[in-house]
Amino acid sequence: MIFRQLFDAESSTYTYLIGCPQSCQAALIDPVKSQLPAYLQLLADLNLSLVAVLDTHTHADHITAAGALRDATGATTYLGAEAQSACVSQPLRHEQVIPVGQLALTALHTPGHTDDSYSFVLTEGEQTYAFTGDTLLIRGTGRTDFQNGNAGEQYQSLFNCLLLLPDHTWVYPGHDYKGWTLSTIGEEKAHNPRLQVNCQADYIALMNRLNLPNPKLMDVAVPMNRACGK
Ligand code: FE
Repeated sequence: MIFRQLFDAESSTYTYLIGCPQSCQAALIDPVKSQLPAYLQLLADLNLSLVAVLDTHTHADHITAAGALRDATGATTYLGAEAQSACVSQPLRHEQVIPVGQLALTALHTPGHTDDSYSFVLTEGEQTYAFTGDTLLIRGTGRTDFQNGNAGEQYQSLFNCLLLLPDHTWVYPGHDYKGWTLSTIGEEKAHNPRLQVNCQADYIALMNRLNLPNPKLMDVAVPMNRACGK
């Protein structure tokens, strides 16, 4: 498999390129609109044709490149059905499978950060990759205090979904503010401070104590991203 982890420094967003070497088809997860020329160049350099653009959720901190990439390449765009976006090509449902040549991404509905949060899981040989968006971060979890966020739902998405993946699963998050690039499910279970709780009520109490400021771009980004970044 062809794999690249790309970084947008302005929003600390990770974007992932996944390519199938046999079919030369590719997918991008969480692309950032200002990076569009770089994505098109990289796809050309690697001789890949883009077939799928996936957003893990309606972002509040950057504008998605989904609509612009669809215009440029004809790729199908995917976003959770809960977003009720009128322009997305394919509203996602839990356990939907998105083919990328001979590879397949499975969408898991993991609400909590937002009600339209999805994670994507891909297994290749012995290795499982989990693209966890803002549901599970490295040593953190996504905030749950706006955009239909819900700490109780996030607890369920973590403990009854993502943390049930094998311990050796690679965790590739939607952001990292320290530049950490990769973790595993086992490592996060053991060392992520948000996951050291005894029950859902404790997790809700922990999340309610965070008191974070709103993201700078929220008022612009959320409506634009419902419209595929246009
Ligand atoms: Fe987010």
